[in-house]
Amino acid sequence: MPVDSTPFPPLTLALLAGAGLAAAGLFAFVRHRWTAPARRLEEMLAELSAGRVPRSFILPGPPAFIRIAGQVEKIAARQDRLLEQARREEYSLRAILRSMTEGVLVVDANHVVREVNEAFLRQFALRTNPIGRTVLEAVRIAAVEEAIVETFRSGQAHEREITLSPANPDEPPRHFDVSAMPVRRAGTEDVVAVFHDISRLKQLEDVRREFVANVSHELRTPLSIFRGYVETLIDQPHVPPAELQRILATMLRHSQRLNALVDDLLMLARLESRRIALDAVAVRLEPFLGRIAGDLKMKLADKQLTLVLALPEGLPPLEADPFRLEQVIYNLLDNAIKYSEPDGRITISAEVAGPMMRLHVTDHGKGIPPADLPHIFERFYRVDKARSRDQGGTGLGLSIVKHIVQLHGGEVAAESQLNHGTTITVALPLAEEEKEKEAPQNPTS
Ligand code: ADP
Repeated sequence: MPVDSTPFPPLTLALLAGAGLAAAGLFAFVRHRWTAPARRLEEMLAELSAGRVPRSFILPGPPAFIRIAGQVEKIAARQDRLLEQARREEYSLRAILRSMTEGVLVVDANHVVREVNEAFLRQFALRTNPIGRTVLEAVRIAAVEEAIVETFRSGQAHEREITLSPANPDEPPRHFDVSAMPVRRAGTEDVVAVFHDISRLKQLEDVRREFVANVSHELRTPLSIFRGYVETLIDQPHVPPAELQRILATMLRHSQRLNALVDDLLMLARLESRRIALDAVAVRLEPFLGRIAGDLKMKLADKQLTLVLALPEGLPPLEADPFRLEQVIYNLLDNAIKYSEPDGRITISAEVAGPMMRLHVTDHGKGIPPADLPHIFERFYRVDKARSRDQGGTGLGLSIVKHIVQLHGGEVAAESQLNHGTTITVALPLAEEEKEKEAPQNPTS
């Protein structure tokens, strides 16, 4: 019997082929209508979850996909806005932290540093980033660690002052006001500590305390002398005329000292608060110093002292307030006279140095010991307290000189050799037109 080698009759084959074609068509249709947009949607969401914005939100396919794409686009826009806002806030926070002069330290519950700003790195001279290390490892200051521990323990804001001894004994200690505050965040607790450097304030406080002590001390001597003599006069109203004369002369001398002290104090206060306006003009030194020398003739003659003006020919004028400059020269000459031995010589010399004129007042008196020399421009600093007071010194003269010179944009310096003499140098600016002449000429101009 012949065997039919075909498994299916031709009709069946035709039907199967038709069905296959229909299935392929259906597959292509489904793929086109559903699978391709679904895959595109998946790609879109993958981009979004990676924090990127998809290139387009257009989905081919049925209206449902188009609506989904619209919603995804809205979510993307919202995510983008949130990200931008977070970025802006982070930027503002960084900018605030960077611009702060106070140091900021953020520490977590394990005392590990989470954040610091530049000021903190500067304050504690940290060269490596301390983030990730414990406070003690990073800063190595027990008082800082204690402030953090105390804040975590109490859960309250904590404030304390810490003093750091300098590594170099010549430098002053540094003082910080530390405010630490617990901050709760997503179930964990951090501490934010702010470090305010109050070293300068402390220094000013010390200076003020010392100043008040010095002024009180200066006032006490003449006042106790007045009181002593007044009591004497009350107890013995009939003192002999010669004795009365002596008492009154002493009281007058001390009242003059008190006056000088108050005048100098007021002057210094005005200079330090910069409440003095300079009326600077071009001053020619030769006639200016000649006048002052004339005024001091008697004082110089009392000690048989000679004042020499050793000014070079054609010295240019300097720019100064004549009234203040006079105070500078008077104070310097007054010292030179006070601290010179009789029969001595005092010289005023000058030279031009760039845009400045350097003026030297030199005497050949008792000089200043090297250890005292750096301090003589400080208020109330005296090498020989008793002698300075006896000679009517207030201990403020050189301090006034320094302030006046600095107000003019100049500098002061002192050189001295014990028992050989002292030179005080004052550098003041030349008058404007002279500065131009002194400036190096530009060959191309
Ligand atoms: P004082 O009123 O005591 O002179 P100053 O401020 O003018 O105060 O000077 C401060 C101190 O510097 C003086 O007490 C003195 O010890 C020292 N001094 C200043 N000028 C001279 C000088 N030309 N020679 C020696 N010592 C000086």
